[in-house]
Amino acid sequence: MRFETRAIHDGQEPDDLTGAVNVPVYQTSTYRQDAIGKHKGYEYSRTGNPTRAALEKALASIEEGRFGLAFASGVAATIAFFSILKPGDHVVAGDEMYGGSYRLLERIVSKWGVTTTYADVDDPSSFERALQKNTRAIWMETPTNPLLKIVDIKKVVSIARDRRIAVAVDNTFASPYFQKPLLLGADVVVHSTTKYIAGHSDIVGGAVITNNEALYEQIKFYQNAAGAVPGPLDSWLALRGIKTLAIRMREHERNALYLARYLSTHPKVREVYYPRLQKDENFNLAKKQMSGFGGMISFELKGGLSAVERFISNLKLFILAESLGGVESLICYPARMTHASIPEEERLRCGIKDNLVRLSVGIEDKVDLKDDLAHALSFA
Ligand SMILES: *Cc1c(COP(=O)(O)O)cnc(C)c1O
Repeated sequence: MRFETRAIHDGQEPDDLTGAVNVPVYQTSTYRQDAIGKHKGYEYSRTGNPTRAALEKALASIEEGRFGLAFASGVAATIAFFSILKPGDHVVAGDEMYGGSYRLLERIVSKWGVTTTYADVDDPSSFERALQKNTRAIWMETPTNPLLKIVDIKKVVSIARDRRIAVAVDNTFASPYFQKPLLLGADVVVHSTTKYIAGHSDIVGGAVITNNEALYEQIKFYQNAAGAVPGPLDSWLALRGIKTLAIRMREHERNALYLARYLSTHPKVREVYYPRLQKDENFNLAKKQMSGFGGMISFELKGGLSAVERFISNLKLFILAESLGGVESLICYPARMTHASIPEEERLRCGIKDNLVRLSVGIEDKVDLKDDLAHALSFA
């Protein structure tokens, strides 16, 4: 079956007991046992909960993987992947990634005696050069945040092959509708379901999906042992988000392309970052490994910080906020918000300048969104 059908049906059969079309919110911590050790598959909700189990099946299905695991947040899913490592192991990670993933590697995973080398996301061969004998994991994000650089998943996977290295892709920005890393050979996909998957800016959640049974067993063990599981209601909201993921992603993309085209002709805009409009390797790669270009745009204004401030303060529809992937349009100022924790020199080296803004384009009417940008840009 195809994506749209699986997103609505997989893991979500009508309830056996009542026929309820929607998976119920099993708001329970524990389950009656008929006799000691005799139960219906559920003992305690940290270990397993039927609403979460439905979500995990649906997540596996939309990523075309065999196994899905749901977590309380994207960073909880990320650290669950890193839990496969042991002291003395080494990680290679792309040098443009979500700040919270960098913080995990530098401040938590490092304390386990695991070291990390950062590879240049503009140069796939740098991943190979960064390998050591003890490299056990590669962590990458594509498209990257906030400059939407595309990293060649197949190429990175080929570097890891035959070396007992698990390749994990943070697929949050593309969503499984536009990109399926497991089909490109990745071992693990990680999501912040907070973003496109839940899609309504109403929960925080995460996911790990894999085809590798041994990795699944290890990460599932960690999920239960460390306990960062989503509650039944949050699981239900993520599940509801999945049902409309396809139609939302199509609208996000349609609106983003329309706005990116508009911005790229605007006299106050210096540079637009949207893979569909780039005329370089970024576009070719995106076209090759993604089925669409997503709903995120970054762009630089010609003016400096004060122009950015005038622009942002005159927006009426775009909401100044962290996060992305919801139905409503958001604007973020990476230098002071999502990427504020990165030292200035390092931030500028990565191209995150003081005149850069990032849009999470929502699914409002595209002309209303353009009018909002046009009005606010007249003050920039
Ligand atoms: C938000 C985000 C995360 C972290 O997810 P949380 O749900 O906030 O914990 C990880 N990776 C990417 C790309 C993100 O955008």
